[in-house]
Amino acid sequence: MIYINKLYPDTCKHQSCLSRAIYEFKNDMEDEKGEYRTITVGYSCEHHIEEVNKLLKEIYYGDKESDDI
Ligand SMILES: [Zn+2]
Repeated sequence: MIYINKLYPDTCKHQSCLSRAIYEFKNDMEDEKGEYRTITVGYSCEHHIEEVNKLLKEIYYGDKESDDI
């Protein structure tokens, strides 16, 4: 018996791009126990690395650090 599962590839987070992502972004996040874990926070296609990077920085670090990429 051969089983077939449909795969759902990760898509680019840049606005309505929705291209298949080939990059993933990871961030060190503190969990509820105060331990840092590296988790995946976003994905981008080959064209929107900087845009998604900026978006994630604004989400996790606020606007003040969004200038220095
Ligand atoms: Zn994209």
